[in-house]
Parts: sequence; structure tokens; C-alpha cells
Amino acid sequence: MKVFDNILQDSSLPLKPCPFCGSDKVYFVETGQKYGVVCFGCMVSTESKNTKETAQKQWNRRA
Ligand SMILES: [Zn+2]
Repeated sequence: MKVFDNILQDSSLPLKPCPFCGSDKVYFVETGQKYGVVCFGCMVSTESKNTKETAQKQWNRRA
């Protein structure tokens, strides 16, 4: 199980529901200086990115 520094919610960067389990418990996480998106329904995650915007784009492209 990964350990995250912070779980972030950012209403200005909407995230699509999880494509794998359908959960909307999808949040940004901060790890070190990087950001990712994690589904807390099934714990799938994107790679860590330098910005939340990049992580959002990667998530929403897959979702
Ligand atoms: Zn999921």
C-alpha cells in the first residue's frame, strides 16, 4: 500500500469517476513534490506528475 503525504481536493480541477470500479472517491494525492490521482475505491493511481494539472489530464484521459 502506498503512503501519501497529503490527500488534496481541488474543485477547480474536476476528476472523472474511476474507469475501473466506477467510484467517485477520486482525489489528488501529494507525494514528495509530485502529484498523482488515486481512486480510493480500488486504489488504482496515475503516475506521479510534477503538477496537479498534468495528473488531472492523465486521469481524465484514461477515465
Ligand atoms: Zn476505482
